[in-house]
Amino acid sequence: MMEQNQDQTNEVEQEENCPVEENTQDKDNTKKPSRAQRIRSAIFELLVYVAIIVVCVMVVPRYVIQRTIVDGTSMEATLQDQDNLLVDKLSYRFSDPKRFDVIVFYPYGRENEDYYIKRVIGLPGETIQIVGDTIYIDGKVLKESYGKDAMTESGIASEPLKLGKDEYFVLGDNREVSEDSRYEEVGPVSRDKIEGRAVLRIYPLNKFGTLRSQGNKAKAAERSSDADTDDAKVVAIDAGHQSRGNSSTEPVGPGSSVRKAKVAGGATGVSSHVPEYKINLSVAKKLRKELELRGYKVVMIRTKNNVNISNKQRAQIANKSGADIYVRIHADSSASSSVRGASALYPSTKNRYVGKLSAKSKKLSQYMLNSYCKKTGIRSRGLSLRDDLTGTNWSKIPVTLIEMGFLSNPTEDRYMQKKSTQNKMAKGMADGIDKYFNR
Ligand SMILES: [Zn+2]
Repeated sequence: MMEQNQDQTNEVEQEENCPVEENTQDKDNTKKPSRAQRIRSAIFELLVYVAIIVVCVMVVPRYVIQRTIVDGTSMEATLQDQDNLLVDKLSYRFSDPKRFDVIVFYPYGRENEDYYIKRVIGLPGETIQIVGDTIYIDGKVLKESYGKDAMTESGIASEPLKLGKDEYFVLGDNREVSEDSRYEEVGPVSRDKIEGRAVLRIYPLNKFGTLRSQGNKAKAAERSSDADTDDAKVVAIDAGHQSRGNSSTEPVGPGSSVRKAKVAGGATGVSSHVPEYKINLSVAKKLRKELELRGYKVVMIRTKNNVNISNKQRAQIANKSGADIYVRIHADSSASSSVRGASALYPSTKNRYVGKLSAKSKKLSQYMLNSYCKKTGIRSRGLSLRDDLTGTNWSKIPVTLIEMGFLSNPTEDRYMQKKSTQNKMAKGMADGIDKYFNR
């Protein structure tokens, strides 16, 4: 390809140069152009036009800029199937691809016409690892929000992957469907396979614009929705557990080598025989209703019992939802049937993942537990510092885990199963949330 390029440009130069020299020589010799000279000058003009056309038709699309059509959904939500893009093929001759550039490349080499459009995530020499939905570059969390959904497949990057001197790690924004560097068939992309940078969307017309600025706009919108205090507060509610636990493991916090089961089984009422996941969801739904009546927006992590969502994923759903706080609802259990009462669990300031959220989480826990116990008459066992909870450690917003009472205590179990009690539980929790937001 490179050789071809040089051949062509040489040809063009020759065509332009030779006649020019002849022309100046002619000027010196005579004043009036002869018929032969006029013909020569006409031929020269024609050759210039041919040269320009050759440049426009052959050289520009091949080496400078080219239209490309998106094929498939792997870059949603940034790019849609059949979007028309302009690809800048020149910049990468002078500078290296940058992180988050959207590039066009030939995964199987240039002789194969299949090209991919993906986003640059890892740069040459870097070590990349994907743990759950979090991307680590040289051991540090990469801050980015291009992914359309949470990532569930980390492929060859599940273990630290060191990129070669000219290798780039790329991901599609639609990470659930994208076939990219995570998969061995594609792998890290070497520099010579990169065709150019997608710079401009030209079709559909209502989405016309540079890709970079659209990415920024989306991010700005995200930020403003966070900062917007006039809008309704958003509460993410997780009803703990699910109908079947999941004993496969996940890291207890971002970057942690300590792993715990994705979802523990949960307790069961000694008297009612109601499993914890059911009462958790029942109260969570009542809390949602109560909060919505009070003008909050509510994000439910689950609304069914038959789901399979790990504790880490639950926190990530809460994080991505734009929620202001994350409330985790659980019921307690003890080997001793006499133990009873409610408590609220929050992370300490020393927690290496969410230590910064400790103060706010404590406030939230305290307010919710106080008004919960007041409303229901359930005894308070106080606050409890916990740094070992996966669902708490992955949170990026103030978080509390409410243990509503003991399913292992027959009296408390029966009391908690009553509809009237559950309404009080929801109201009590909502009172605490009101207080947290100064309402
Ligand atoms: Zn539980």
